Parts: sequence; structure tokens; C-alpha cells
Amino acid sequence: MKTGGTMENGTRRDRVFGCLFCGAAGDALGYPVEFDDLEQIRLSYGESGIREYVRIDGVAQVSDDTQMTVFTADGLIAARNDAVCQDDIKAHCEYLLKAYRQWASMQVEDYPLTDFENPSKLAQVRELYEVRDPGRTCILSLLRDETGTVSSPANDSKGCGGVMRVAPVGLYMHPGARMEDVIFLAAEAAAITHGHPYGYLAAAVFAGMVYQLVNGYAEEIELALFRALKTCEAVFAESEYMTLLSEKLKEAADLTKENIPEKDAISRLGEGWVAEEALAIAVYCAIKHPDDPAQALCSAVNHSGDSDSTGAITGNLVGARCGYAALPENLMRGLELSEVLRELAEEFA
Ligand SMILES: [Mg+2]
Repeated sequence: MKTGGTMENGTRRDRVFGCLFCGAAGDALGYPVEFDDLEQIRLSYGESGIREYVRIDGVAQVSDDTQMTVFTADGLIAARNDAVCQDDIKAHCEYLLKAYRQWASMQVEDYPLTDFENPSKLAQVRELYEVRDPGRTCILSLLRDETGTVSSPANDSKGCGGVMRVAPVGLYMHPGARMEDVIFLAAEAAAITHGHPYGYLAAAVFAGMVYQLVNGYAEEIELALFRALKTCEAVFAESEYMTLLSEKLKEAADLTKENIPEKDAISRLGEGWVAEEALAIAVYCAIKHPDDPAQALCSAVNHSGDSDSTGAITGNLVGARCGYAALPENLMRGLELSEVLRELAEEFA
């Protein structure tokens, strides 16, 4: 039996599992080459790049991207368990902030966590203490208590650490919720650590896409993108960065229709260290290979930039579209944190 248990293809449950597991798979595939350029990747793994996990003792290790995604999910579930209203964005952010602080504490402390008030049960998961090249902005702003909101930014960072962790926002919101609420919550979740508009606007668009895909409101990635952009453009109408982000993401979608090598298209979009580039690369790879999760992930990690984050975001999108049942068995085998992901997916399903 697969990790997700009995899974009927095409159900919301299948897509929730697909989103979380395929995101972790993209992260694990890209993590060993995060800091390699394409030439180095090809030297190490051959002309077609890295296509299989580098397993350590049989385990495909995930990085901070999946760890933080897990804590986003944990914070949202804690809010729900305390019966916080879904449209109370501010209250949710307090739960998210606590969850992210717990992650940061676990990054600097040894198991078991002692110096943290009322930790969630994730404190029992030893793998979450592993330090897997976490983003500086995330760690420092959380440990130094220099966190922010959209209206009161903590810094000017537009790193991809905000966008790469917010897929659970799209899974958490009830079917039928207002898209505006999905978008506000994702933006605020990212703005806790990333104060530049690109840092949180990319997160808003991304969660809006996940929300539509997982609920079946959009079958195609491109439709999910355009609808999320439309709502974000209305919500953040004052922001010049929203206009620029829309242009960038539409360019990514357009590039999929051009007959140019993928590596060239991806390098035109950037390297993915910053939020708008990471999402643009993921949008490109997901639209290019909507029905082939394995190929979408390979495209998303074989470039000269932030391979694990672009892999994770691409995986969240394609997995939310195709569902868990469509994910190849070899990508699910030995994937780190599978048990935690399964429990969280069950909560959202
Ligand atoms: Mg990472």
C-alpha cells in the first residue's frame, strides 16, 4: 500500500496528499544540488542532470523548505483545533509565528526541545532538528524576534523562504472560502519573516493557485495562475510590485509555448533565490509538464539556482493537480518525514 493509504485518483484527498508529498519530493531531489550550477550538476550526474534521489542510508533527505512547510501546516492545524475562525487572519498569524519559532528553536537546540513553551508534538520528530541549510533570513528573524507583517515589514528580504513554505494555506482553507482570505493569510504567513513585497506577494499567488488546484476549481495550472493573479491584483492594487510580479509570472507561462530549450527558458526567469524568480521557475516547470510529476521535478531542479526550493514549489503545484496516486513509487520510497506528511495531509483532507 502506498503511504497515503487507499487513494482514489482525482479526489480532494488525493490532491492534498499529492501537494504535500510531491513538494517534499522536489525538495529532496533538488537539495543535493542546491548550490551547484548546471555545469557542476551535469559533471556529477550526467548530461540529463540529477534524476534520482541521492539517498543517505536509504533516505531521501528533505531540506528546510519541507521542514517549514510542515510547521506552517502545524500552526494552521493548531489554530483550527482552537476553533479560530478561518477569516481571522491575525489570530492565525500568531499560531504560525509560534510554529515557526518552534522550528527555529529546534534548529539551534538538540533533541529533545526543552527551551520552548508548550511545543507542538513536532518537537518529538528527530528529523526536524536536522539543519539543512535553512535560509538566514528565516532563522535570524525568528530567533531575534524581528518578525513582521504586510503592513509593518520586519526587513526588506525577498528571499524565497516565504513562498516555499505556504502551500498548506491553500490546503487548509475550506472549499468555498473566499480567495481573498487565502491570499491574505499566505501573504501574512510569508511576511512574518520576509518584508519585501515580492517576498509575500509571491506567497499569496502561490497559495491561491494551490487552493484552486486542490479543490478542483482549476484543472490547469495556467488557469489557476491567472485567477490567483486576478484576485491578487485586486487585493494589492496599490502595489507596483504586484504589477511587476504579474508580468514576470505571465512571462513564465508564455515561455512554455516557445520552442526553446528548458534550461534557457529557466535561466531567463532567474535562479530562484528570490521569491518572484522561484515562483516563476516553478510556474514554468509545472505548466510545461502538468501530467508528469517526475519530469516536472527534474526540470525544476536541474538549473544553476535554488534547486530545492524551485523543486518544492513545483512539486506542490503539480502534486495538487495530479494527486498522490499519480506520483511514481520510486519518488515516494524512503522520502524523509513521510509519516509526518501523511498525518498532516490527513488533517487537511
Ligand atoms: Mg532548502
